[in-house]
Amino acid sequence: MGNSGPNLTDSRAHPSSAKNSSWKIEVLLAGSWRGATCTLLSRGHHHIIVDTGMPHEAHRLLNALEKRGIHPNDVRMVINTHFHVDHVLNNCLFPQSEIYGSQQSHDWCCEAYSDLLDEQNWVKLGLKYYPESADYERTSELMHALRRFALRWWDRKRLGDPSRFRWIETHPVPDDLEFLVTNGHVPGHVSVIVHKGSSPTIIAGDAVLTREHDENVFTMIPHNRKQFQLDRERILSMLGHILPGHDDAFSNSGGEPHTSS
Ligand SMILES: [Zn+2]
Repeated sequence: MGNSGPNLTDSRAHPSSAKNSSWKIEVLLAGSWRGATCTLLSRGHHHIIVDTGMPHEAHRLLNALEKRGIHPNDVRMVINTHFHVDHVLNNCLFPQSEIYGSQQSHDWCCEAYSDLLDEQNWVKLGLKYYPESADYERTSELMHALRRFALRWWDRKRLGDPSRFRWIETHPVPDDLEFLVTNGHVPGHVSVIVHKGSSPTIIAGDAVLTREHDENVFTMIPHNRKQFQLDRERILSMLGHILPGHDDAFSNSGGEPHTSS
């Protein structure tokens, strides 16, 4: 995992993209103010899902796969941009898959959720993860919402069998994929860059919540607001196709960005 950013000059000249056929990229669940984008990458019979959504979306996710003739056991790899509940709770639907993500975001999110379940000390413990929350107007509302999420949804078992985790800190990534560390949302958050010919697709995860109106998304404040802004700007400066964590895809062609279907 490189800490340096992707270099677009490199990506244009990516050697393996010329040799192999490129990834087909399809949105399985469209991101919205209340749900995360789930994306399918396919190359022949090799299928990868990036982020898996919430339990109540399982049916829609499986339907979207079935429509494409893909059985859950055909999915051999899941990538989690981070381990917030709206991105990971259907990992368990893909028992044959290896699960890629950063150990840093996994540990951070798991510890945060379990601390938020602490009856006595959850407010104090929550501040450990979101030390900047006092700077926000709706701090208490946000922290209560986060605790409600933890109480209602957090279920370690839905993350998949721990033996299937492949931490990107130590495991190489498949050809033509690159992980870009975007720490602002949560520590260890990664965006996925799919190198595809001359124009990469950047699966931003929550480093770019929406194209324009992040304030409309019902998710937690950034762990580090300044870093979050830097991550967002860095991704928005890349030429290519951008898939936000909670919005429709759009393309960045260098001029005014235009929405694509
Ligand atoms: Zn998130």
